[in-house]
Amino acid sequence: MAEETESTGFKAPPGVKVVTSKSQLAANDRPSPEMAAWCLQRKNIIVLKSGTILTADPGSRDVQNCRIAMLNKQIRPGEVLVAAPSLINSLLENLGSIKDYEQIQQDVAEEISGQQKRLRTLVQEAVDADVSDIHMEIRTDVCKIRFRKYGELYLHAEWFPRLGREVAAVAFNKETDHATAHFNPLIPQDAAMPLKVKSGDVRLRLASMPAHGGFDMVMRILGTEKESSIVSLDELGYTLEQIYIIKRAIQMPHGAVLLSGPTGSGKTTTLAACLHLIKNTRKVYTIEDPVEKVVPSVTQVPVNVKTDDRSFASFGRAALRMDPDYIVLGEMRDEDTANVMLRATITGHLVFSTIHTNSAPGIILRLADMGISPVMLSDSNVLVCLIFQRLIAILCPDCKIPLRQAKAHADEMYRWETIFGNEVVDRLYARRPGGCQQCHNTALGGRKVVAEVVWVDEKGREFIQKLDILSWERYLRSMGWHTYKDRAIAMVREGLVDPFDAEALIGEMSITDETKGFDYNAAREQMEKDEARKKRES
Ligand SMILES: [Zn+2]
Repeated sequence: MAEETESTGFKAPPGVKVVTSKSQLAANDRPSPEMAAWCLQRKNIIVLKSGTILTADPGSRDVQNCRIAMLNKQIRPGEVLVAAPSLINSLLENLGSIKDYEQIQQDVAEEISGQQKRLRTLVQEAVDADVSDIHMEIRTDVCKIRFRKYGELYLHAEWFPRLGREVAAVAFNKETDHATAHFNPLIPQDAAMPLKVKSGDVRLRLASMPAHGGFDMVMRILGTEKESSIVSLDELGYTLEQIYIIKRAIQMPHGAVLLSGPTGSGKTTTLAACLHLIKNTRKVYTIEDPVEKVVPSVTQVPVNVKTDDRSFASFGRAALRMDPDYIVLGEMRDEDTANVMLRATITGHLVFSTIHTNSAPGIILRLADMGISPVMLSDSNVLVCLIFQRLIAILCPDCKIPLRQAKAHADEMYRWETIFGNEVVDRLYARRPGGCQQCHNTALGGRKVVAEVVWVDEKGREFIQKLDILSWERYLRSMGWHTYKDRAIAMVREGLVDPFDAEALIGEMSITDETKGFDYNAAREQMEKDEARKKRES
């Protein structure tokens, strides 16, 4: 051994024990893979898994550098042992080629690639700006990024199309829940994407659609940690009378409470607010695709609607065997799910579900359309309460301007006066062009629910059995019921909503009372008056 050390010019310092063979090391203490590339580069040092450093020259600068490199990799440097160069060389040879390790390092670095970082930054920007959706419009010349806030889109950034394509592909291929499908911009695709960004965990839903000259990708922000607090029905915009009806429905021993509205109308938030009203001595199962809002004290079950054995219906049937008091079926989109709802109500449970319709009474027609018989629908055990909701843009309280001062409304003033009366128009407000700092120049202060809530009573069931929705609505109106359109107009009257924003939601506010029949004469007179006024003014 002494000969060998001499032949390599190695002289151990006097009085220092030299490690000359592997057998002198702890049995499992192999060279550290994390430090392998570094050691292979230096060729005179080996770092073991325990943090022990083997070197022929303990006083060299390399040992200091090695300690720093280890600390950078969060490895704690251990003791420094003097080792024979032959041992170091043999350990280095066993490590293999430096190329192998560089590949590993690159792979690790690529796990969070530039595109993934860009995706995270984009999502973080959206979360910071409190937007609901990120629209990426990728075309041959440009990729437009638009954010939706309070229901309206605004341009956030413009990227090179290549970056847009890469970020979209990375989102689908590397970040989504089910890594089954490969991103293909030529077909419509959708997926759920949990993402960790600086501010915390964000859940998103991705959807893509081919378009002329490229494709669109939309990322909907389902929930962030920040907004996981439950908002009350009152804060959402439900009226006291509507809240009374919903609370009464929740106290029913069995039946169905159905909530309808278009996509993105805040149904999930309302559902969470309803569930929050349930006493925690009750067992609640929610079947959702995916879980959008975490509600404490509730068992939330995610389903995958793409596979039959994990559908709303099959999970709903399973939940019925779990001794529940309340069952929430995320979405009723087929006869199968509707039948689970019926079975649950008849076996003594209160069921909540959402459905897509254009009005609360319209829920009946939708269910009939799914194949549920009118006799079943009018059974007194089945339907309790029907809710329909939409979201309306609320004026920014800091910068809204009196309607009469709004240039955008100058041409419509006569119409508003006809609908609301002169005195009321004096108290109405409009958006200020350009907004203010408080509202990020949107001129809006958020969105509120405009809803209609129907309590299904004995009389109502008679209409339901005949599927006579028109007569039912007439009856409801005679009982003082208000539609979501009435609610939107009431909010204009309160000076909370710009009349144009109300019309964007409910259509043109009519000057004739359509429940009494459309008045063609009144419409003609109105047109003539308008024309005469315009002539006068010009
Ligand atoms: Zn403002």
